[in-house]
Amino acid sequence: MSTPGAHTFSIPETVPRWKGRPVPWIAQWTGETYRPSQMPLQIEPAANGGARLAYQDPSTEDWWSPPGADCPSVLWRHTRTDRTGSPDWAAFNSERQRKALTDHLCQVCGQSAATDNGTSWLMHALEWSMLIHHLGADRMETANPPTCQNCWPVAIKLCPSLRSQGAVAFTVSKAHPVGVVGDVVPSRLEPPVRSIVLFDEPHIVKTLARLLLVRLDEFQIHAKITGR
Ligand SMILES: [Zn+2]
Repeated sequence: MSTPGAHTFSIPETVPRWKGRPVPWIAQWTGETYRPSQMPLQIEPAANGGARLAYQDPSTEDWWSPPGADCPSVLWRHTRTDRTGSPDWAAFNSERQRKALTDHLCQVCGQSAATDNGTSWLMHALEWSMLIHHLGADRMETANPPTCQNCWPVAIKLCPSLRSQGAVAFTVSKAHPVGVVGDVVPSRLEPPVRSIVLFDEPHIVKTLARLLLVRLDEFQIHAKITGR
């Protein structure tokens, strides 16, 4: 296991680069996004007699079924995954974010974040305290994917906000998808509203999902790193 605040570390070879600088595996690149006019949406009749959001030129790959959840398939925001253009350091690529959370992959290097004791996570101290305060001491919901233990010191070194705010390094025994962060389109005439939507909420069928949300249960804290 790496020491989260260590001063010496090596950057894994699988971490992408841009002009020689390491870029988190999960980051979105400018050439990967589509303008809304390139992927127009519509409200169409659903199989159950209601209505649902869909692309105007639909394909079965537009939809994603949450594993183990008893809910309709979710319309997912299309992005490319070819890392063209330049990195948008603050944004997650929607496809990679979902894959990281469902396959327990590290958001920094893209490799497995699983250990014998659960999946490894690194979270801003502020986000940690807000989530714990909101949901209680033994569970939390987040769209922030895992970080493998090899990448704990890399992430703290490369992320200014982790360095300044501090971080909490922990492992999680259970991570269940529970909803999405997405754009809810109530009707053809109304503008989309960015919201957290749980899978069991009725307006999930009128949501264009951007990020997956998971519930973390049974976590064990390994280190708390104070900000500088
Ligand atoms: Zn990693």
